[in-house]
Amino acid sequence: MKWEDNVRKVVPYVAGEQPDKPNMIKLNTNECPYPPAPGVARLAAGMDCDALRLYPNSDATPLVEALAEYYHVSPGQVFVGVGSDDVLSMAFLTFFNSGRPILFPDVTYSFYDVWADLYRIPYKTCPLDNNWHICPEDYKQPNGGVIFPNPNAPTGVPEDLKTVEEIVAANRDVVVIVDEAYVDFGGVSALPLLEKYDNLLVVQTFSKSRALAGLRIGFCIGSEKLIGYLNDVKFSFNSYTLNRPAQVLGVEAVRDQAYFKETTAKIIATRERVKEELKELGFTFPESKANFIFASHRSISAKQIFQALRDADIYVRHWDKPRISEYLRITVGTDEQMDRLLTFLRDYVNCAAKDR
Ligand code: PMP
Repeated sequence: MKWEDNVRKVVPYVAGEQPDKPNMIKLNTNECPYPPAPGVARLAAGMDCDALRLYPNSDATPLVEALAEYYHVSPGQVFVGVGSDDVLSMAFLTFFNSGRPILFPDVTYSFYDVWADLYRIPYKTCPLDNNWHICPEDYKQPNGGVIFPNPNAPTGVPEDLKTVEEIVAANRDVVVIVDEAYVDFGGVSALPLLEKYDNLLVVQTFSKSRALAGLRIGFCIGSEKLIGYLNDVKFSFNSYTLNRPAQVLGVEAVRDQAYFKETTAKIIATRERVKEELKELGFTFPESKANFIFASHRSISAKQIFQALRDADIYVRHWDKPRISEYLRITVGTDEQMDRLLTFLRDYVNCAAKDR
């Protein structure tokens, strides 16, 4: 068929599965195991549905202002989108436009190469070292832009601010995007660097630490100039991105700092406890400052454990990809959920040891 020659063909990103079984334990897409801030439910219950006749505010002004206040920046430095995937996709389209390859780690968020392919942006991957860390020297070659998550995904490994600054400083002629989807679980944000670098864009999300994956809110903070260019592209694409409920409820989630601190601290505490218990079961993992653990077992294959867990309705994530095929990415759930996971793994590992 001739028309097919002109189709934009892409290999899409494969999102984690979203099963819906009554007794399942869902530890596969890094959602928050706790509900959103209590005020979100209160506001949602009293929502003015009549207002849904009307288009939302295309600038999402109240949400942008709430974020600006929280992060001590000007509203002109904040851009919001439908999850950070939307923000990142807009940023790729806006800033990676030179024809030179953009750079990102070989093991990283697997949406980056998909957007690069979609937008016809050439790219080159830079291998993480044997401890899963970024090598800043790799990012000193000619390029059309840089992006990396910090902490990285799916490893959870954090980079310190010095490493991030080294990369941003070495790339003043291009835009450097730091994807901080998981930064609230113990990582160090690059936001303080914004005072020095107008080529830095920091992207964050409400999907993990603010327990609103279902509402789809992401945002980024950068120099007013960067955000201006991003808005020009966004308004050439779709004016009304964030719907009314997302704008209203998002503000409430940002305002409740106490609840945010309490739930992120609980997740961090659970993560540290589970790390110790996984170690005792023969798992190894790099240091994680995210809401997941990237674990490999010393004698049982990751694929086998993944399948056994899945059969027991415990969902984690596994990729059949170079370097990471022996690892499972396990989201940190509630203590009860993690206890069920650990009980299953204890039995499974002991049975496997007996069979040998
Ligand atoms: N960045 C990274 C590194 C992620 O793992 C994710 C979650 N899949 C996202 C961005 C996007 O999350 P969301 O669109 O829900 O904000």
